[in-house]
Amino acid sequence: MHGELPLMTEENLKVTELEKKLKKKEDELERLRKENESIKRSNLELKEEIFQFKGLVYSSTSLITFLKGPDYIIEFANKPIKEVWGKGYDVEGKSLFDVLPELHSQGIKEYLDQAFYKGEPFHARSLPIEHDKNGEMVRYFFDFSYMPQYNYNREIIGVGVIAQDITNRKRAETELKESEHRYREMIHSSNSLIAILRGPEMIIEIANDAIKEVWGKGANVEGKSLFEVLPEIVDQGMPEIFRTVYETGETVVAQESPIMHLKNGEMVLGYFDFMYQALKDSSGEIEGVSVIANEVTNQALLNRQIKKSEREFRELVNFMPHKISLTDTEGVPVYYNQSWLDFTGKSFDELLSESYLDMVHPDEREFVENEVERCLSTEENLDIEVQIRNKDGNYIWHLAKATPIRDEEGNITSWISSSTEIQKLKEDEKRQEDFLKLVSHELKTPITSIKGYIQLLLASLPDDNRDTEKRLPIKPYLNRVETQVERLIRLLSEMLDLSKIEQNELELKIEKFNLNSHVREILEDLKYSNRNVQLELEEDFSCEVHADKDRIGQVIINFVTNALKYSPDSNRVQLKIFEPEKGHVAVSVKDFGIGINEKEQNQIFKRFYRISGNKDDTYEGFGIGLYLSNEIIERHNGKIFVKSELGKGSEFTFTIPQNHQK
Ligand code: ADP
Repeated sequence: MHGELPLMTEENLKVTELEKKLKKKEDELERLRKENESIKRSNLELKEEIFQFKGLVYSSTSLITFLKGPDYIIEFANKPIKEVWGKGYDVEGKSLFDVLPELHSQGIKEYLDQAFYKGEPFHARSLPIEHDKNGEMVRYFFDFSYMPQYNYNREIIGVGVIAQDITNRKRAETELKESEHRYREMIHSSNSLIAILRGPEMIIEIANDAIKEVWGKGANVEGKSLFEVLPEIVDQGMPEIFRTVYETGETVVAQESPIMHLKNGEMVLGYFDFMYQALKDSSGEIEGVSVIANEVTNQALLNRQIKKSEREFRELVNFMPHKISLTDTEGVPVYYNQSWLDFTGKSFDELLSESYLDMVHPDEREFVENEVERCLSTEENLDIEVQIRNKDGNYIWHLAKATPIRDEEGNITSWISSSTEIQKLKEDEKRQEDFLKLVSHELKTPITSIKGYIQLLLASLPDDNRDTEKRLPIKPYLNRVETQVERLIRLLSEMLDLSKIEQNELELKIEKFNLNSHVREILEDLKYSNRNVQLELEEDFSCEVHADKDRIGQVIINFVTNALKYSPDSNRVQLKIFEPEKGHVAVSVKDFGIGINEKEQNQIFKRFYRISGNKDDTYEGFGIGLYLSNEIIERHNGKIFVKSELGKGSEFTFTIPQNHQK
């Protein structure tokens, strides 16, 4: 074995050498295998990374694109950027400027070139870019980053673009700015007094010109505390009000609140309507107080004046012995003065809660109600005599008058009425009437017999007695005496008629007669006793009537004698008979005399009413004729009208139904 050793050794050496080489190869193989393994792994990792990265880019809401080469060929663009471009989804492989030609004029190439050629990244904020959307240029705002893209050899191969579409945010910002601007404009141009105060110190943040004017402390008040600027309001309870609003969040509203401001060394009193409101931030925390106020000094002074004069009037009205009340436009009472309460023995509320008609004498309720209704609808003044029950249950005569109160436009807002006691007057009147009735009655018989004797004497005198006449003008004198006696008789019968009406004793004797012949007869008689007058009759209609012949005659005579009496410069009177409506007949008497003014046309039908200014000695009379005529016609269910113009003449007309109905 030993002898073989060198050979072995040599061989062994070779083997060892080979083995070593083999080992080396094997190690190398192992290393390569491992290296291969690791390359494979890192390849996989790289793929994964690219995959993740692509996912990130795809799902990003940012706008991302990679542009390659100097022509900026779109290599990749994610969905959001394609949507903003609005040129479809198939844009890869095309040049950016072919896809979006509108970018040419917007300086985008310069930004890209800066990144591509100079390798300088470019960032821009709020960059406006207009995109062509179906022919319409729509403005967008972007935050941009343009970044150079490198290859493996650190050479620039393109530009990566990442952008954020901030159009909506920008729009909201602009709107906010605009609205804030508008809001400030509004505050400053407002006539209302406006201020915004911050913090517990009430630091003036905003104060408009109007409020500065009222404060009178100049224009530079912002940034100072309200109480430092207006120390005079500290003692007027203002800090407490502001503190309440600031601490509790309560809104404080006041009307016509008096506040003194120190202006040019003088305390000036003003009245203000104001609202102090807590200002809250978005989390609801109170951060200040807003002041909105209006100066209402003139109005407040006026209101105080009105209140004062209202108090004075109320006192005056209560002090008056007359019964004064106010009603609404429907005639419902809303106020009674003290006199009413004293008279009725009722409280204010009791009076308001019951109908005023309850106080009126039961016989007069219907009349009063009708009169009130009439005045409410015609807007005429009310003027009636009515008996009202006092607290002892006795009915006392009153003269009740009411007149409407109107606003500036002339609309009626309420009615004021005054009732005056005329009980004593009524009693005196009654006594006078009784006396007159008695006297008239007593006088009528002797006077009628005087008239009879005069007529006898006249009849017994020869017609042609010129010789005796020359010595003793008996006939003309007797004629005069007869006229005067007739006047007396007419007066007496008017007096008697009057008392008959007062006592409701005037009864009609209804008979059928021809109105036309009756009128003609009356005219003949009147012509006989008024020789030099011109009485004309126009008969447009002819009819028989059921009426009181004498009373109708009395009315016509009254109209005609008035027409003659009140026409000193004319002797023409025109009568007309016509049919004013089916079943009625009318007689009118027209003169060309002194006329009656409008205000008095309603009054002349009242008892004893004579127009003042017509000298009593110029026109004799007592103011009874028209009153009687009116009563007579009303009892025939007819109506009397007057049309007249001062200085031109008058026309009196009555209409009655052809057949009298009770
Ligand atoms: P009198 O006896 O006073 O005439 P009336 O009742 O007949 O009484 O008339 C009332 C008043 O109406 C008269 O006083 C007169 O002022 C006025 N009056 C009546 N008729 C006429 C007329 N035709 N023209 C002018 N005024 C008249």
